Amino acid sequence: MGHAVGRGGEVHERGVVGVAAQPLGDPFGVRDDLAGPLPRSEGDGLGVDQAGRTRPSRREDQVRLSLGESPCRVSVGKKFDKLGYHAIDSAELVFDDYRLSKEHLIGGVEGQGFFQATGGLELGRINVAARGVGLAEGSLRLATEYAQVRETMGKPIAQHQAIQFKLAEMATKVEAAHAMMVNAARLKDAGKRNDVESGMAKLIGSEFCNEVVQESFRIHGGYGYSKEYEIERLMREAPFMLIGEGTSEIQKTIISRGLLKDYALRG
Ligand SMILES: Cc1cc2nc3c(=O)[nH]c(=O)nc-3n(C[C@H](O)[C@H](O)[C@H](O)COP(=O)(O)OP(=O)(O)OC[C@H]3O[C@@H](n4cnc5c(N)ncnc54)[C@H](O)[C@@H]3O)c2cc1C
Repeated sequence: MGHAVGRGGEVHERGVVGVAAQPLGDPFGVRDDLAGPLPRSEGDGLGVDQAGRTRPSRREDQVRLSLGESPCRVSVGKKFDKLGYHAIDSAELVFDDYRLSKEHLIGGVEGQGFFQATGGLELGRINVAARGVGLAEGSLRLATEYAQVRETMGKPIAQHQAIQFKLAEMATKVEAAHAMMVNAARLKDAGKRNDVESGMAKLIGSEFCNEVVQESFRIHGGYGYSKEYEIERLMREAPFMLIGEGTSEIQKTIISRGLLKDYALRG
């Protein structure tokens, strides 16, 4: 969200500035045109009850996603100073008396917001799983190289069985996380249901990522704590994989929900 807002905080004259999710029936700033201020409680906008319209009954049907365009009152609030993930900024977006018109409804059909958002979550989880695999793979490579260069007790640490076992476990975790990520991605590409598989891929991808990065850090010894070595940055990047697109606890909730549904006892 907010990628069309300038880095200096200015709002672009034209272009998309954000996606807003709202429950239907919430008349907040929704109207047929953008000309002039109207009270928030007006009744002629999208999602507001009109004569003859049947209100959706399911909670899932009561969310809409709309695409906002400037000019409108959007400003960038506090910018977060983060542990890692510095390739993009993360900041508050302030929607002040924000108004949307009918044609900004994503997909053009009301009540699809929940499904659009959850469909995006599956993709996002596979995405984070893949990023976790990449981070883990990079950390494994760094550790494997470093272990052949650093010598203790008269030989490269790669010759110590303790380090060999670490590398073997790390490589196995990378391979397993990669396989699960590819499996989820294939299901998604095939248009098949993949909430459980993408949840599993994200869970393993992020947890294994953190374990592998941590082990690589240990193998680097004191140097791993220095910014001169890339593993220091990967140590700061890895924790976000545990959080972004849903925490591990949430992935477990999704997986077990699917499991209980698949193996539900009849009778
Ligand atoms: C740098 C950064 C960028 C982000 N970018 C985006 C983005 O682009 N788009 C976006 O939509 N979001 C984004 N997020 C939000 C991110 O997806 C959430 O932070 C994440 O899903 C966790 O939600 P939360 O912070 O509300 O944690 P909370 O829900 O407050 O969770 C706190 C703790 O409670 C646990 N918990 C919560 N509910 C349950 C439950 N029902 N059962 C068991 N345990 C539970 C959690 O696992 C966690 O340990 C970003 C976050 C960060 C840090």
